[in-house]
Amino acid sequence: MADLRKKLFRSYRRMNAATLRLALSYMSIIMVLSISFSAVFYWTSTNELGSPVKSSASGAVDKTSKQGQSVLIGGTGNNGEPEVVTNSSEDLHAQLQERIAGIRADLLQRLVALNGAAFVISFFLSLYLARRTLRPIEAAAEAQNRFASDASHELRTPLTIMQSEIEVVLNKQHVTVERAKRALQSNYQEVVRLRQLSEGLLQLARSSKPIPANKLATIALDETVNDTVNQVIKLAQTKHVAIRITVPKLQARGDQQSIIQILTILLDNAIKYSPKGSTIYIEGRDTHSHAYIGVRDEGPGIPAADLPHIFDRFYRAKPTHSQKASGYGLGLSIAKRLAEQYGGDITVESTLKKGSIFTLKLLKS
Ligand code: ADP
Repeated sequence: MADLRKKLFRSYRRMNAATLRLALSYMSIIMVLSISFSAVFYWTSTNELGSPVKSSASGAVDKTSKQGQSVLIGGTGNNGEPEVVTNSSEDLHAQLQERIAGIRADLLQRLVALNGAAFVISFFLSLYLARRTLRPIEAAAEAQNRFASDASHELRTPLTIMQSEIEVVLNKQHVTVERAKRALQSNYQEVVRLRQLSEGLLQLARSSKPIPANKLATIALDETVNDTVNQVIKLAQTKHVAIRITVPKLQARGDQQSIIQILTILLDNAIKYSPKGSTIYIEGRDTHSHAYIGVRDEGPGIPAADLPHIFDRFYRAKPTHSQKASGYGLGLSIAKRLAEQYGGDITVESTLKKGSIFTLKLLKS
């Protein structure tokens, strides 16, 4: 009993004005239908009972009175019109009227009880339905709020840095050209970071609906890998990181630019977290239904506790290796979302101090 009370209390607290309003709308619809049907049912039933009538040929009901006299109701006469019985006994007529009135009252009582029960049941049913209807809408609104608050939180840091840099320069009476240039340089870096952040946010905000298979192009994955590596090779060279490619001829379904973007994100991370002098391996394979591209690095690896979250928006692993690397924790969430749009996925395996392997899975062409 205490349990039930707790449950009811909890569900009452979860109920908000929108749920209640929607539930009341559902309930009014149910009650209007129920009352209308009851009224029609009552009206047709009592109309059929009508006044006592004499039957001719068509569908009359034969009722027998206490005195053994025969009374006919609900039939039609020879001309098709209901005919009133001209019973010899006034008594019998009164008894019959009384009986009909009783039946009517009884029917009315039952219908009122039925609608009462419908009222109570429809209240709980409407609440349940309203909650079910609003759940995905509430989840979407919550996700949007979280997105906005995460984004503004991330925007605040570079803006604060820029603001304080500018304030320092403005508060000085004499500013050397060198000092002014240093401030501008620092602000410039923050502006670049802000631009990257806004681009990432824009991409995440875009539609992420799966793209129908018939709208996907056939992509030569091996060539796409080579194109992507050509774009990031300079970055790898400046970090003294080698890239080794072992991708056989592979065809997948998707969009060339999106696959380049996914691979760039994976390679960019691999380069970012790879120690000087290490190698990044890009390997390709396929099964009968899917094509796979693995990007393996010899970096610090990702702690097991962080692994389930690294594809979450704005998530960055805490340990020292990521403190040095710049980023907003948006790259992997964008890459995963893109892969999913093409019916694919990205998975990760990682061993601390040994490295990580990110695997892009795509539908085979
Ligand atoms: P970021 O811009 O921070 O790199 P990502 O979404 O690309 O954002 O990555 C999320 C987090 O996953 C990173 O902050 C980092 O902790 C971890 N991570 C991603 N790739 C690697 C990698 N190759 N090696 C180690 N850690 C990685």
